[in-house]
Amino acid sequence: MSIATDSVALRTDPARLAAVNRYEILDAPTDGQFDTIAAAAAALCGTPIATVSIVDADRVWFAAAKGLDGVAQVGTEPGLCASAFCADGPYVVNDAVTDPRTLDHPLVRGELGLRFYAAAPIVTTDGHQLGTVTAIDAVPRELTEAQSAVLCHLADQVARHLELRLATLKAVRAERELRAEAEERAAAASELAARMRAAAAAHVTGPRPRHCQLGAAAECTAPAELKIADSWGDSAWGCSTHVEEAIINVRSVFIASEELGGLSTYLHR
Ligand SMILES: [Zn+2]
Repeated sequence: MSIATDSVALRTDPARLAAVNRYEILDAPTDGQFDTIAAAAAALCGTPIATVSIVDADRVWFAAAKGLDGVAQVGTEPGLCASAFCADGPYVVNDAVTDPRTLDHPLVRGELGLRFYAAAPIVTTDGHQLGTVTAIDAVPRELTEAQSAVLCHLADQVARHLELRLATLKAVRAERELRAEAEERAAAASELAARMRAAAAAHVTGPRPRHCQLGAAAECTAPAELKIADSWGDSAWGCSTHVEEAIINVRSVFIASEELGGLSTYLHR
């Protein structure tokens, strides 16, 4: 298989694309961190252009693109990022016009006139190749061993930053779930309160004792507002505080209200 065919298979590999997508980085608002990394790549390699690119199934998207104002993404023609992302290490084209890998590439033949291209692959901790950190120039160049090593370090920095970003995304999601649960509990509590108010209103007209019958140790002198029953058929009248306490603490206790469908629902379920 040629290098080009290899890179197409890897570019569209579902496992790799799943890894790309888990970071939720594609088309996300650009992050200052990636701009800093692109600026460092340009400064250290002495080129006017540097990018942090993520390779999607059918495009190369730029998380940062120093010196390429207004360019958000490019195509997947072989030879540059779409080939470099799956290299084992640095991928360097000293003069793109004479290099068979790149001489037909639109960025080489087109207005940009790309001549020098150096890239280091961005690899996740679980081994997925996401994209590249690149340094680009319109004149031919050589890359020193030190510059090549720095480019690889910068690509590792991108991978590390993406992991941090993923951890933050997970924390935000967990926090959102906790809040939803708390809201659900609050809604359930307010529904209970509403049922108690409705039951009290329904009980207003019926005969009842003067005082709450639920005070355990001391007699409760609060007015009897609600009738509760348990699954054994015992029933009692209580004030709203003691009724709520009984409902929360005794599993088999419920508001004895035919009007609310409570008891009949319970008996005929
Ligand atoms: Zn009471």
